[in-house]
Amino acid sequence: MSDPETDPGPPHRLHCRHCQDVIGAYEPMVLETHQGSSETSLAAEPSLYETDQPCFHRACYDQARDHGR
Ligand SMILES: [Zn+2]
Repeated sequence: MSDPETDPGPPHRLHCRHCQDVIGAYEPMVLETHQGSSETSLAAEPSLYETDQPCFHRACYDQARDHGR
């Protein structure tokens, strides 16, 4: 557990696994979890900046799934 007050590291940035672009805080995004995919946003869940799970822009997730078929 790191305290943001005493640990002023560089701000984390979440990158889309599909287009490698940064996912903005207020952009709709999809998080892939063991339970399935969930739609969320960084503004709603700031803890996602630290996640190891694959993250996608909402639109990129649809594209990635189409290509996977
Ligand atoms: Zn993307």
